[in-house]
Amino acid sequence: MAQNVESVAFVFIIDERWFAPSVHGFDRMGPHRMRFMVQSVLALEQALLEQGHELVVLTGDPATCIVDAANLLDCAQVFGQKEHTQEETDAENQIESVISAHWIEGQTLLHPEDLPMSLNDLPEVFSRFRNKVEKGGLKIRPLVHVEQWPTPIKVNALLVTNWLQRCESVLCPSFMPGAMVFEGGVLAGRKRLDAYLWDTRLLSRYKETRNGLLGYDYSSKFSPWLAWGCLSARQIHADVLRYEHEIEANESTYWLIFELLWRDYFRFIAMQHGNRIWSMFGIKGEAVHSHVKPHESSWQNWINGTTDDDFVNANMRELRATGFMSNRGRQNVASYAIHDLGLDWRPCAAWFERELIDYDPCSNTGNWLYVAGLGNDPRPNRKFDLPWQTERYDPDGLYRAFWNSPSRP
Ligand SMILES: Cc1cc2nc3c(=O)[nH]c(=O)nc-3n(C[C@H](O)[C@H](O)[C@H](O)COP(=O)(O)OP(=O)(O)OC[C@H]3O[C@@H](n4cnc5c(N)ncnc54)[C@H](O)[C@@H]3O)c2cc1C
Repeated sequence: MAQNVESVAFVFIIDERWFAPSVHGFDRMGPHRMRFMVQSVLALEQALLEQGHELVVLTGDPATCIVDAANLLDCAQVFGQKEHTQEETDAENQIESVISAHWIEGQTLLHPEDLPMSLNDLPEVFSRFRNKVEKGGLKIRPLVHVEQWPTPIKVNALLVTNWLQRCESVLCPSFMPGAMVFEGGVLAGRKRLDAYLWDTRLLSRYKETRNGLLGYDYSSKFSPWLAWGCLSARQIHADVLRYEHEIEANESTYWLIFELLWRDYFRFIAMQHGNRIWSMFGIKGEAVHSHVKPHESSWQNWINGTTDDDFVNANMRELRATGFMSNRGRQNVASYAIHDLGLDWRPCAAWFERELIDYDPCSNTGNWLYVAGLGNDPRPNRKFDLPWQTERYDPDGLYRAFWNSPSRP
């Protein structure tokens, strides 16, 4: 994109709706996600400054802000990342109705146009999708390096805002000793990639460790940087290929790419099914699991980590305190919420949207539907056996002891 224009201005929009309560009655962006976003934006601002460019940060309705900024800066075209969920496509359409706009598919490992099937023919089961895209080798577009930056457009004083002040009101105050802390930004993302692959070679054992619960090392932790565009799936893939060439290739190195394909798959499913992914019965379109009537305190107990299950509680407390939860934890708390407490999956998924620093609408909804038996799973009942899971993944109780300790909030 940058190679094809003479001059450019960079704009980041903080969507006003992130501060407002959703239909479920709580705000959409909690303090951890807000902090990670602020750090990422500040890092972007710094990186652009080093290239002689300023970053305009506006708060409001995304389409209105972009069009106003384009007018004030006298821009003839708008470029942005292509998204496929309703709020974002609404904004894209509004922008396109007044100015020439170009949307770039940058989120996925596989470009949607390179899929060996049309979106309408996307297999409803992940393994079939994977077999098809892997046949003959994954087709991945090369990374683009900017050689020559376009000249900067001078920023109009009307576009200088106090956005940071607005965000600071919801930033989280402190962290607990021993808890994981993630820092937003491209450099921090690159540091994590280097640490996981090159400094420690943890990638070589990923398949054996990925179901862990405590600490930084059991899985890559790339998801927050992926969600905020600080790392790209193609960048990770390029590093894994180099690792396989220079260090070793084994089941674990393959498995990381396998997981990135899951991420792609949920995005393609969202593209295929549109707003059906948000409906009560998901893409199945009908109820499939047994009906447990929720107790009136079930919701509060689930979000606060005060249920009858101490494994669920530990995970929900970790989420509240850090903005992160392991994949094993997410599967278990989701199953417990839906199949044991009888909660509607939609407010639960919205709670994840509020709390997770790696929130991604497609991965989040796709996984919730999957656990609910309303998504891409041939098995209708995905109820997890919590006692078995706890015994298998936290046999010594270390994880539960850490997060359920009375000294933790
Ligand atoms: C109920 C539920 C909700 C979830 N919500 C989100 C979400 O909002 N955002 C999000 O990024 N992931 C979500 N996941 C998927 C997964 O739990 C996280 O991607 C993973 O825990 C992030 O940690 P990691 O980067 O260390 O993962 P790793 O195990 O190191 O995997 C590497 C990368 O592969 C991708 N990946 C791994 N597992 C999955 C998966 N099941 N689905 C999609 N992508 C995957 C992620 O991009 C991840 O960063 C959810 C899972 C469940 C069960």
